[in-house]
Amino acid sequence: MGSPAKQVPIKEGLYTWPAAEPQLIGSRCRDCDEVSFPKQDGCPNCTSEATEEILLSRRGSLWTWTIQRFPPPAPPFIGERESFEPFGVGYIELPEGIRIESRLTVNDPAQLEIGMEMELCIEKFRDREDGTQLMTFAFAPACAEPTCSEPTCV
Ligand SMILES: [Zn+2]
Repeated sequence: MGSPAKQVPIKEGLYTWPAAEPQLIGSRCRDCDEVSFPKQDGCPNCTSEATEEILLSRRGSLWTWTIQRFPPPAPPFIGERESFEPFGVGYIELPEGIRIESRLTVNDPAQLEIGMEMELCIEKFRDREDGTQLMTFAFAPACAEPTCSEPTCV
């Protein structure tokens, strides 16, 4: 066993990392309360520049979902086409009143149901040629037990 591969976020500023309980980094407009993700310097709703950084809830409900069964066009798709595996994509509705488009950790329709509780995970997106792992955020079906600390991200 070698040392674990170095992990780097797919993009800086998307989520707190490294962290035992990572959170997405968004922004809230002080003038109209609009919440944005990713973080915006200007409010997309009222164009105010009085935005502040906020950490978004780790849990939300599944608003809608689908299974991406073929590689999306490149760009923006940057994965390896030969090793493509279908993945879930969904919108997660957070308590802050925002819906986040996200990868899902599961691609089995039997495990997905609109309205179910989902929890944020950071998972490997792909390996880079230099051996580091690109890490992205995804949502996983949350354990139904609210105090459960078992990692749902596998
Ligand atoms: Zn605003």
